[in-house]
Amino acid sequence: MRTFGIILATAILTALATSAAWLFLYERTDRAAPPPQMVDTPATAIPPEEIATDPPEDIVFSPSPSATPELMAKELTLPVAGYDLSDLTPQFDDSRGEGRAHQALDFMAARGTPVRAVDDGVLVKFFDSDQGGTTIYQFDPTESWVYYYAHLDSRADDIEEGDAVRRGQVIGTVGSTGNADDDAPHLHFAIERLGPEKNWWQGEAVDPYQVFAVQ
Ligand SMILES: [Zn+2]
Repeated sequence: MRTFGIILATAILTALATSAAWLFLYERTDRAAPPPQMVDTPATAIPPEEIATDPPEDIVFSPSPSATPELMAKELTLPVAGYDLSDLTPQFDDSRGEGRAHQALDFMAARGTPVRAVDDGVLVKFFDSDQGGTTIYQFDPTESWVYYYAHLDSRADDIEEGDAVRRGQVIGTVGSTGNADDDAPHLHFAIERLGPEKNWWQGEAVDPYQVFAVQ
């Protein structure tokens, strides 16, 4: 009986220690943003997707905030030329496991298909992450919105971080870098409303389907 008591106590202590460790780790990974000085050091920066979309598992996602009239009025260009709009379906709330929602729109296309800027603006960040692979973050001209292009096979040769681009300009090619399936290359495209700090990694996701589906 005494042995059993010791085993039980050990089990409880182990469970408590494990919980504490997870709580500690979760607190660390759930920080809202890396410090500003990390912006220019992508090798050590926390991947934006992990910051923005790692709520606890039990969270029920609220619907996407509606695209504003201002965003709708932009009539954004489709990022993949020749895409049939009837092939698009809402995917914003789709689960991507580990309590994360998709919060984006995927354009399935052959590897190497050109990816175009959906709007005028500035390519504020070229970022490589485990999840998104080769990515580009673009601000719109008013710095109200950030457009996110992920799983790129490559970025265009004639662009650099900080460049201004025009709507329709080719900025890369469709691929499957990051956590995309090699057999299903696609462009993962997201739109976020920027906060007052204008941080490229920190915004409020809006469903791109709402913007493109009405064109
Ligand atoms: Zn996606």
